[in-house]
Amino acid sequence: MATNSGSKSHRLPDDELALIRKYIHGCHILHYYNIVDAYGHLSVRLSESVFMMSRYMAPALVSSTDDMVLYDVETGEALQKDAPKGFSERFIHSEIYKAYPKVQSVVHSHSLEVVPFSISSTPLRACFHMAGFLGTAVPVWDAATVYRDDPLASNDMLVRSTGMGASLAKALGPADAEGLPKYPVALMRGHGFVATANNIEMAISKSIYTMQNAQIQRAAAGLSGSMEGVRFFSEREAHDAGLTAIAGAAKPWPLWVAEVKGHALYKNCV
Ligand SMILES: [Zn+2]
Repeated sequence: MATNSGSKSHRLPDDELALIRKYIHGCHILHYYNIVDAYGHLSVRLSESVFMMSRYMAPALVSSTDDMVLYDVETGEALQKDAPKGFSERFIHSEIYKAYPKVQSVVHSHSLEVVPFSISSTPLRACFHMAGFLGTAVPVWDAATVYRDDPLASNDMLVRSTGMGASLAKALGPADAEGLPKYPVALMRGHGFVATANNIEMAISKSIYTMQNAQIQRAAAGLSGSMEGVRFFSEREAHDAGLTAIAGAAKPWPLWVAEVKGHALYKNCV
Protein backbone atom coordinates (compact mmCIF):
# COMPACT_ATOMS: atom_id res chain seq x y z
CA MET A 1 0.00 0.00 0.00
CA ALA A 2 0.28 3.41 -0.35
CA THR A 3 2.77 5.05 1.90
CA ASN A 4 2.79 1.85 3.96
CA SER A 5 -0.10 2.71 6.16
CA GLY A 6 -0.62 -1.02 6.55
CA SER A 7 -3.92 -1.49 4.76
CA LYS A 8 -4.28 -2.35 1.10
CA SER A 9 -7.85 -1.09 1.08
CA HIS A 10 -7.12 2.19 2.82
CA ARG A 11 -7.73 5.14 0.55
CA LEU A 12 -5.46 8.08 1.08
CA PRO A 13 -6.96 11.53 1.61
CA ASP A 14 -7.08 13.71 -1.49
CA ASP A 15 -4.47 16.14 -0.20
CA GLU A 16 -2.04 13.29 0.44
CA LEU A 17 -2.66 11.88 -3.02
CA ALA A 18 -2.08 15.30 -4.52
CA LEU A 19 1.25 15.55 -2.71
CA ILE A 20 2.32 12.09 -3.91
CA ARG A 21 1.26 13.02 -7.45
CA LYS A 22 3.39 16.15 -7.22
CA TYR A 23 6.28 14.16 -5.75
CA ILE A 24 6.19 11.71 -8.67
CA HIS A 25 6.10 14.55 -11.19
CA GLY A 26 9.04 16.04 -9.31
CA CYS A 27 11.08 12.84 -9.64
CA HIS A 28 10.38 12.79 -13.37
CA ILE A 29 11.27 16.47 -13.81
CA LEU A 30 14.60 15.93 -12.02
CA HIS A 31 15.39 13.15 -14.48
CA TYR A 32 14.14 15.09 -17.51
CA TYR A 33 16.52 17.92 -16.63
CA ASN A 34 19.48 15.60 -15.91
CA ILE A 35 19.60 16.44 -12.23
CA VAL A 36 19.33 12.71 -11.42
CA ASP A 37 20.10 9.57 -13.42
CA ALA A 38 19.62 6.14 -11.89
CA TYR A 39 20.84 7.73 -8.66
CA GLY A 40 19.85 10.77 -6.67
CA HIS A 41 16.58 11.40 -4.90
CA LEU A 42 13.81 13.78 -3.86
CA SER A 43 12.03 13.90 -0.50
CA VAL A 44 9.16 15.89 0.99
CA ARG A 45 8.29 16.55 4.61
CA LEU A 46 4.81 15.51 5.80
CA SER A 47 5.06 16.77 9.38
CA GLU A 48 7.62 17.84 11.94
CA SER A 49 8.63 14.22 12.49
CA VAL A 50 7.84 12.40 9.22
CA PHE A 51 9.06 12.72 5.66
CA MET A 52 8.38 10.74 2.50
CA MET A 53 10.52 9.52 -0.36
CA SER A 54 10.42 6.73 -2.87
CA ARG A 55 11.73 3.24 -2.25
CA TYR A 56 15.17 2.33 -3.64
CA MET A 57 14.65 2.92 -7.37
CA ALA A 58 15.54 5.28 -10.18
CA PRO A 59 13.49 8.50 -9.89
CA ALA A 60 12.40 8.29 -13.53
CA LEU A 61 10.58 5.02 -12.76
CA VAL A 62 8.65 6.11 -9.65
CA SER A 63 5.00 5.83 -10.60
CA SER A 64 2.60 4.88 -7.81
CA THR A 65 1.69 5.17 -4.14
CA ASP A 66 3.22 1.72 -3.65
CA ASP A 67 6.62 3.22 -4.42
CA MET A 68 6.44 5.55 -1.44
CA VAL A 69 7.98 5.06 2.01
CA LEU A 70 7.47 7.13 5.15
CA TYR A 71 10.49 7.89 7.32
CA ASP A 72 11.11 9.10 10.85
CA VAL A 73 13.01 12.40 10.86
CA GLU A 74 14.72 11.55 14.16
CA THR A 75 16.26 8.24 13.09
CA GLY A 76 16.07 8.24 9.29
CA GLU A 77 14.45 4.80 9.49
CA ALA A 78 11.22 3.68 7.82
CA LEU A 79 8.08 3.90 9.95
CA GLN A 80 6.89 0.48 8.83
CA LYS A 81 9.03 -2.55 9.62
CA ASP A 82 8.02 -4.23 6.35
CA ALA A 83 8.72 -1.15 4.22
CA PRO A 84 10.52 -1.81 0.93
CA LYS A 85 14.24 -1.16 0.76
CA GLY A 86 15.11 2.52 0.93
CA PHE A 87 18.08 4.64 -0.09
CA SER A 88 21.27 4.25 1.95
CA GLU A 89 21.64 8.04 1.78
CA ARG A 90 18.22 8.81 3.27
CA PHE A 91 20.14 10.38 6.21
CA ILE A 92 20.90 13.36 3.97
CA HIS A 93 17.20 14.12 4.10
CA SER A 94 16.41 13.18 7.70
CA GLU A 95 19.20 15.26 9.17
CA ILE A 96 18.39 18.33 7.06
CA TYR A 97 14.74 18.14 8.16
CA LYS A 98 15.92 17.76 11.75
CA ALA A 99 18.23 20.76 11.61
CA TYR A 100 15.92 23.11 9.68
CA PRO A 101 12.27 22.94 10.77
CA LYS A 102 10.95 24.92 7.80
CA VAL A 103 12.64 22.89 5.08
CA GLN A 104 9.85 20.99 3.33
CA SER A 105 11.70 19.35 0.45
CA VAL A 106 15.24 18.17 -0.31
CA VAL A 107 16.93 17.08 -3.55
CA HIS A 108 20.15 15.08 -3.69
CA SER A 109 21.93 15.05 -7.06
CA HIS A 110 25.10 13.66 -8.61
CA SER A 111 25.00 16.24 -11.43
CA LEU A 112 28.06 15.98 -13.67
CA GLU A 113 27.87 19.73 -14.27
CA VAL A 114 28.15 20.53 -10.58
CA VAL A 115 30.59 17.90 -9.23
CA PRO A 116 33.69 19.59 -10.75
CA PHE A 117 33.06 22.60 -8.50
CA SER A 118 33.24 20.29 -5.48
CA ILE A 119 36.78 19.13 -6.26
CA SER A 120 38.45 22.26 -7.58
CA SER A 121 39.60 25.47 -5.95
CA THR A 122 36.97 27.39 -7.90
CA PRO A 123 33.80 28.00 -5.91
CA LEU A 124 30.41 27.75 -7.51
CA ARG A 125 28.82 31.19 -7.17
CA ALA A 126 25.91 33.10 -8.64
CA CYS A 127 26.49 34.51 -12.12
CA PHE A 128 23.06 33.78 -13.67
CA HIS A 129 19.93 35.67 -12.64
CA MET A 130 17.88 32.52 -12.04
CA ALA A 131 20.43 31.30 -9.50
CA GLY A 132 20.94 34.30 -7.25
CA PHE A 133 20.14 32.05 -4.27
CA LEU A 134 23.63 30.55 -4.67
CA GLY A 135 25.12 33.75 -3.30
CA THR A 136 28.82 34.57 -3.57
CA ALA A 137 30.13 31.12 -2.60
CA VAL A 138 28.37 27.77 -2.27
CA PRO A 139 29.76 25.74 0.65
CA VAL A 140 31.47 22.43 -0.07
CA TRP A 141 31.02 19.62 2.45
CA ASP A 142 33.71 16.97 2.63
CA ALA A 143 32.72 13.48 3.80
CA ALA A 144 36.33 12.92 4.85
CA THR A 145 35.83 15.34 7.73
CA VAL A 146 33.62 12.63 9.26
CA TYR A 147 35.15 9.33 8.19
CA ARG A 148 38.78 10.28 8.82
CA ASP A 149 38.14 9.97 12.56
CA ASP A 150 36.80 6.42 12.24
CA PRO A 151 39.27 3.88 10.85
CA LEU A 152 36.47 1.34 10.39
CA ALA A 153 34.18 3.68 8.42
CA SER A 154 33.79 3.29 4.68
CA ASN A 155 35.56 5.98 2.67
CA ASP A 156 33.08 5.71 -0.20
CA MET A 157 31.82 9.33 0.19
CA LEU A 158 28.21 8.25 0.77
CA VAL A 159 26.09 9.63 3.61
CA ARG A 160 25.23 6.38 5.35
CA SER A 161 24.53 7.48 8.92
CA THR A 162 22.83 10.13 10.99
CA GLY A 163 26.28 11.41 11.97
CA MET A 164 27.31 12.00 8.39
CA GLY A 165 23.93 13.51 7.57
CA ALA A 166 24.19 15.87 10.53
CA SER A 167 27.64 17.00 9.42
CA LEU A 168 26.34 17.69 5.91
CA ALA A 169 23.31 19.55 7.27
CA LYS A 170 25.62 21.76 9.32
CA ALA A 171 27.41 22.83 6.14
CA LEU A 172 24.20 24.59 5.09
CA GLY A 173 24.89 27.13 7.82
CA PRO A 174 22.71 28.47 10.61
CA ALA A 175 18.93 28.56 10.27
CA ASP A 176 17.64 32.01 9.35
CA ALA A 177 14.67 33.77 10.93
CA GLU A 178 12.32 31.64 8.82
CA GLY A 179 13.91 28.34 9.90
CA LEU A 180 15.56 27.82 6.51
CA PRO A 181 19.31 27.28 6.09
CA LYS A 182 21.55 30.25 5.34
CA TYR A 183 22.85 28.36 2.30
CA PRO A 184 20.03 26.56 0.44
CA VAL A 185 22.53 24.51 -1.56
CA ALA A 186 25.73 22.71 -0.52
CA LEU A 187 28.13 20.74 -2.69
CA MET A 188 29.49 17.36 -1.58
CA ARG A 189 33.14 16.70 -2.48
CA GLY A 190 33.48 14.26 -5.36
CA HIS A 191 29.83 13.32 -5.07
CA GLY A 192 27.15 15.91 -5.87
CA PHE A 193 24.98 18.43 -4.10
CA VAL A 194 21.91 18.96 -1.95
CA ALA A 195 19.25 21.60 -2.54
CA THR A 196 16.68 22.57 0.08
CA ALA A 197 13.49 24.62 -0.04
CA ASN A 198 10.13 25.19 1.57
CA ASN A 199 8.27 23.18 -1.08
CA ILE A 200 8.87 20.60 -3.82
CA GLU A 201 8.62 23.11 -6.64
CA MET A 202 11.35 25.33 -5.20
CA ALA A 203 13.67 22.42 -4.32
CA ILE A 204 13.48 21.33 -7.96
CA SER A 205 13.79 24.87 -9.26
CA LYS A 206 16.93 25.42 -7.18
CA SER A 207 18.38 22.12 -8.41
CA ILE A 208 17.81 22.96 -12.07
CA TYR A 209 19.17 26.49 -11.78
CA THR A 210 22.17 25.34 -9.70
CA MET A 211 23.09 23.07 -12.59
CA GLN A 212 22.50 25.81 -15.17
CA ASN A 213 24.60 28.29 -13.17
CA ALA A 214 27.42 25.71 -13.12
CA GLN A 215 27.16 25.33 -16.91
CA ILE A 216 27.16 29.09 -17.44
CA GLN A 217 30.01 29.72 -15.02
CA ARG A 218 32.20 27.15 -16.76
CA ALA A 219 31.26 28.41 -20.22
CA ALA A 220 32.10 31.98 -19.20
CA ALA A 221 35.46 30.88 -17.80
CA GLY A 222 36.17 29.15 -21.10
CA LEU A 223 35.37 32.31 -23.06
CA SER A 224 37.44 34.44 -20.71
CA GLY A 225 40.35 32.04 -20.56
CA SER A 226 40.19 31.92 -16.77
CA MET A 227 37.74 32.04 -13.88
CA GLU A 228 39.18 35.47 -12.96
CA GLY A 229 37.65 36.84 -16.15
CA VAL A 230 34.10 35.89 -15.13
CA ARG A 231 31.95 38.72 -13.84
CA PHE A 232 30.08 37.26 -10.86
CA PHE A 233 27.16 38.78 -8.99
CA SER A 234 27.83 41.00 -6.01
CA GLU A 235 26.25 39.95 -2.73
CA ARG A 236 23.43 42.44 -3.28
CA GLU A 237 22.82 41.32 -6.87
CA ALA A 238 22.72 37.67 -5.80
CA HIS A 239 20.34 38.45 -2.95
CA ASP A 240 17.93 40.49 -5.08
CA ALA A 241 18.04 38.04 -8.00
CA GLY A 242 17.31 35.23 -5.54
CA LEU A 243 14.23 37.03 -4.23
CA THR A 244 12.92 37.66 -7.74
CA ALA A 245 13.41 34.02 -8.73
CA ILE A 246 11.46 32.86 -5.67
CA ALA A 247 8.61 35.23 -6.55
CA GLY A 248 8.45 33.76 -10.06
CA ALA A 249 8.84 30.11 -9.09
CA ALA A 250 5.22 29.22 -9.82
CA LYS A 251 5.65 29.95 -13.52
CA PRO A 252 7.85 27.05 -14.68
CA TRP A 253 6.12 24.28 -12.71
CA PRO A 254 3.13 23.75 -15.09
CA LEU A 255 5.55 23.66 -18.03
CA TRP A 256 7.79 21.12 -16.32
CA VAL A 257 4.79 18.93 -15.46
CA ALA A 258 3.51 19.12 -19.05
CA GLU A 259 6.94 18.12 -20.37
CA VAL A 260 7.12 14.95 -18.27
CA LYS A 261 3.43 14.11 -18.76
CA GLY A 262 4.02 14.10 -22.50
CA HIS A 263 7.06 11.83 -22.29
CA ALA A 264 6.64 8.08 -22.80
CA LEU A 265 9.24 7.12 -20.19
CA TYR A 266 7.43 8.65 -17.24
CA LYS A 267 4.30 7.16 -15.65
CA ASN A 268 2.29 8.82 -12.90
CA CYS A 269 -0.56 6.55 -11.80
CA VAL A 270 -1.63 8.69 -8.84
ZN1 LIG B 1 24.68 10.39 -3.46
